[in-house]
Amino acid sequence: METPKKKPEPEQEREKIEVHSAWMFDCNACGRENFIRGVRRESVENDDGRVDLYVLYPREVACRFCEKQYETELSG
Ligand SMILES: [Zn+2]
Repeated sequence: METPKKKPEPEQEREKIEVHSAWMFDCNACGRENFIRGVRRESVENDDGRVDLYVLYPREVACRFCEKQYETELSG
Protein backbone atom coordinates (compact mmCIF):
# COMPACT_ATOMS: atom_id res chain seq x y z
CA MET A 1 0.00 0.00 0.00
CA GLU A 2 1.35 3.39 -0.94
CA THR A 3 1.60 6.23 1.46
CA PRO A 4 0.30 9.39 -0.15
CA LYS A 5 2.99 12.02 -0.35
CA LYS A 6 2.30 15.23 1.44
CA LYS A 7 2.09 18.04 -1.07
CA PRO A 8 4.21 21.07 -0.32
CA GLU A 9 2.22 24.20 0.33
CA PRO A 10 2.07 26.46 -2.70
CA GLU A 11 4.15 29.61 -2.31
CA GLN A 12 1.14 31.91 -2.62
CA GLU A 13 -0.71 30.45 0.34
CA ARG A 14 2.09 31.10 2.80
CA GLU A 15 1.47 34.07 5.00
CA LYS A 16 4.30 36.54 5.30
CA ILE A 17 5.60 37.39 8.73
CA GLU A 18 7.88 40.23 9.67
CA VAL A 19 11.17 39.32 11.33
CA HIS A 20 12.85 41.62 13.81
CA SER A 21 16.45 42.11 14.79
CA ALA A 22 17.15 40.90 18.29
CA TRP A 23 19.98 40.58 20.76
CA MET A 24 20.47 37.53 22.87
CA PHE A 25 22.35 36.52 25.99
CA ASP A 26 22.69 33.43 28.14
CA CYS A 27 21.94 34.18 31.76
CA ASN A 28 24.92 33.41 34.03
CA ALA A 29 22.65 32.68 36.94
CA CYS A 30 20.12 30.25 35.46
CA GLY A 31 21.78 29.47 32.11
CA ARG A 32 18.72 30.20 30.06
CA GLU A 33 18.60 31.96 26.74
CA ASN A 34 17.10 35.44 26.58
CA PHE A 35 16.14 37.41 23.49
CA ILE A 36 15.72 41.16 23.48
CA ARG A 37 14.11 42.93 20.60
CA GLY A 38 16.53 45.34 18.98
CA VAL A 39 15.62 48.96 18.51
CA ARG A 40 15.98 49.73 14.86
CA ARG A 41 17.22 53.12 13.89
CA GLU A 42 16.69 54.73 10.56
CA SER A 43 19.01 53.41 7.93
CA VAL A 44 21.80 55.70 6.78
CA GLU A 45 22.78 55.87 3.16
CA ASN A 46 26.47 56.34 2.47
CA ASP A 47 28.03 58.35 -0.35
CA ASP A 48 28.64 55.17 -2.34
CA GLY A 49 24.99 54.12 -2.12
CA ARG A 50 25.48 51.47 0.54
CA VAL A 51 22.90 51.49 3.31
CA ASP A 52 23.87 50.90 6.92
CA LEU A 53 21.20 49.75 9.31
CA TYR A 54 21.76 50.51 12.95
CA VAL A 55 20.28 48.30 15.63
CA LEU A 56 20.65 49.61 19.15
CA TYR A 57 21.08 47.38 22.17
CA PRO A 58 20.06 48.13 25.73
CA ARG A 59 22.64 49.19 28.31
CA GLU A 60 21.02 47.00 30.94
CA VAL A 61 19.08 43.77 30.67
CA ALA A 62 17.28 41.47 33.06
CA CYS A 63 16.80 37.73 32.68
CA ARG A 64 13.14 37.09 32.01
CA PHE A 65 13.28 33.82 33.92
CA CYS A 66 15.17 34.58 37.16
CA GLU A 67 15.15 38.40 36.90
CA LYS A 68 18.88 38.79 37.47
CA GLN A 69 20.08 42.12 36.10
CA TYR A 70 23.17 42.75 34.02
CA GLU A 71 25.02 45.55 32.31
CA THR A 72 25.63 44.72 28.66
CA GLU A 73 28.69 44.59 26.46
CA LEU A 74 29.02 43.33 22.92
CA SER A 75 30.59 39.94 22.43
CA GLY A 76 33.88 39.97 20.60
ZN1 LIG B 1 18.38 33.85 34.58
